[in-house]
Amino acid sequence: MRATIMHAPGDVRVEDRDKPAVRQPTDAVIKLVAACVCGSDLWPYRGADKISKPAPMGHEYVGIVEEVGAGVRNVRPGQFVVGSFFASDNTCDICRSGYQSACVHRQGVGGAQAEYMRVPLADGTLVATPGMPDAGKVPSLLAASDVLGTGWFAAKAAEVGPGKTVAVVGDGAVGLLGVLAAQQMGAERIIAMSRHADRQALAREFGATDIVEERGDEGVKKIKELTGGLGAHSVLEAVGTQESMLQAIHATRAGGHVGFVGVSHDVALPGRDLFYSHVHLHGGPAPVRQYLPELIDLILGGTINPGKVFDLELPLEQAADAYKAMDERRAIKVLLRP
Ligand SMILES: [Zn+2]
Repeated sequence: MRATIMHAPGDVRVEDRDKPAVRQPTDAVIKLVAACVCGSDLWPYRGADKISKPAPMGHEYVGIVEEVGAGVRNVRPGQFVVGSFFASDNTCDICRSGYQSACVHRQGVGGAQAEYMRVPLADGTLVATPGMPDAGKVPSLLAASDVLGTGWFAAKAAEVGPGKTVAVVGDGAVGLLGVLAAQQMGAERIIAMSRHADRQALAREFGATDIVEERGDEGVKKIKELTGGLGAHSVLEAVGTQESMLQAIHATRAGGHVGFVGVSHDVALPGRDLFYSHVHLHGGPAPVRQYLPELIDLILGGTINPGKVFDLELPLEQAADAYKAMDERRAIKVLLRP
């Protein structure tokens, strides 16, 4: 089969690899219908994360079940499934409390930018759609697999709700879908922080009421001006840098909540800043599995269309071009068709 492998920063190739097989009775093998490049794939691509050996890429996926192990009960061959980037049993205490991405049996899921992939703990990880979805719903279902689920968790973690003012730091796919999540959860006002016209337009389409182009302290000042000097009730952080994290904390009013989902890179919080901020911090790798049934319903019912974040679609063979387009910010998010 063909699969996307990262050899070194900036060096992504599509190569022949062995087709994965069921190894454990709890595994499933799926034939990918669509996959995509994640903002977090850009960290190693840009040299910010080390690559010790050639790495199969991709952790966002929708596909059709090809084969299941003897112990799999909840999905069967032929079903269309959506999964999350951490495999979870969905039965342990941590899973049942809603934190499947910290499951005691959690395993990373990788190699989705390919024709086939193996998914461990298939019963707890995969959610089948009722019947075969229309082709037009595939991008949105793919978004549910990570970026939408992650934006959704950011909004939940930031305690977004009716009557609240929300600010979103980061205008990548996760930030934009954080705007959509905030709108679905009834936020009164949603401030998107972005300096790119195309992303601002999509943020408005997803429900943003205000746009702030400034960053850092200037951006914080702007948020304060828009909120009577207090700051937002809920701030979603979807970048993962020191600047974005401090921007999020400082833009939150006393007693407010920060939901942080950008993969942290060298973030070190100054203790006194944190002490006097009076904000709640909650975040981490999103428990996407918790939200999948609800998100699939909202998508198939036509209530939300998160697939709009894919502004470029390429055949799997051109995965290297997909990385380049996202690295150069020519595309918000690229969908790959095996
Ligand atoms: Zn678990």
